[in-house]
Amino acid sequence: MFKKSLFILLCSFSAYAQAGFDIITLGSKGGIQDGNLTAFLIKDSLDNNYITLDAGTVVNGLIAAEQKQAFQDIDVPKNSPYTKVGYILREKIKGYFISHAHLDHLAGMIIASPDDSNKPIYGLPSVTEIISETYFNWRAWPNFGSSGQGYQLGKYQYHDLSPQKWLLIKDTHLQAKALPLSHAGIESSAFIIKNNQKQVMVYLGDTGADSVEQSDQLNNLWSTLAPYIKNKQLKGIMIETSFTNDVPERSLYGHLTPKLLLEELALLEYKAGGKGALTGLPIVITHIKYSLLKKTNPLTVIQQQLNAGNTLGVTFHFPVQGERFSL
Ligand SMILES: [Zn+2]
Ligand SMILES: [Zn+2]
Repeated sequence: MFKKSLFILLCSFSAYAQAGFDIITLGSKGGIQDGNLTAFLIKDSLDNNYITLDAGTVVNGLIAAEQKQAFQDIDVPKNSPYTKVGYILREKIKGYFISHAHLDHLAGMIIASPDDSNKPIYGLPSVTEIISETYFNWRAWPNFGSSGQGYQLGKYQYHDLSPQKWLLIKDTHLQAKALPLSHAGIESSAFIIKNNQKQVMVYLGDTGADSVEQSDQLNNLWSTLAPYIKNKQLKGIMIETSFTNDVPERSLYGHLTPKLLLEELALLEYKAGGKGALTGLPIVITHIKYSLLKKTNPLTVIQQQLNAGNTLGVTFHFPVQGERFSL
C-alpha cells in the first residue's frame, strides 16, 4: 500500500517537473502553399484539450498530424459519429487564437467553419473586428460570428484579449494575454500562454523588427518576458523568420530575417540578465515561405544563418506539418 502511493507520488511529481506545453504543427509555412499555412495546436501537457495559435490551415493539418500519429493519446468515443479528424476539430479544439487577420493566418478556420462546432475566437480587439467586418459578413462568407453584419449565426463568439489581464481559456488549463506587434502598418499580436504550473510560452504572429518598423512593440514584449526568464518560467518562444538575410529591409513588409531576429533576441538576453540568460531556450521558427525556385531552399539558408549567428546559445527548432513537439 505504502509502496503504491509512493509510486503514484513519484509519478505525479515527475509529471509535474516535466510539465509544459504540447504543440502540433497544423501548418508551418508563411505562404504560398495552401494546405500548409501558419497554424499550431497547443495544450497544457497534463490536459488533452487544445487551442490553436493562428488557423491558416486546419483540416489539412489535422489530417497530416493524424497520419503522423500525433493524436495517439486521444480516443474517439465509440458512440461518436465523427472520424478522428472530425472529433478533434469539433471536441478537442476549444478556441482559435488569431494573431492578425491576414488570410495565411485564418483561412483554415473560415473554410472549416460550416462543419465546425461552437467555439470562441480570441484576439486583440482590432483583429476580431477585422475578422467580423472582412470575412464573416455574408459577402466573403456567411456570418458565423457573434457580431457583425446581417443575421449572426453565433457559432463563433469573439473574445477580446488584453495586454494587462490574464484571460482564462474556457475548457483548458491555459490562460492568455496578448500584446500588440507591428506588422508593416497593421496590428499583429503576440500571445503569452500560461498553464496551471505557471509555466509560460509566447507565440508571435507576423512581426517586423523594431528598428525597421520604427516601433517599440518588440521592446515592450521583451520587457514583459524578461521576468519569466529570470524565474525560469519561460519554456519557449515561437517566432517568425520569413526571409533570408539577403532580402533588403525595404522589401520585408513587416517580417524578420535571421539577422534581425538575432538582434531582437540579443536585446531580450540583455533584459533577462545578460550573457547566458537565454542558454538552451527553445526558439521555434515559423512562417518560412514555400519557395517556387529550383535553386534556393529558404529553409536551409535560414537554418544556416540562424545557427551561424547563434552566440546566445538558444536552441532553434524548425517545425514540420503534422509533427508534435513539446516545450
Ligand atoms: Zn503571414
Ligand atoms: Zn501577415
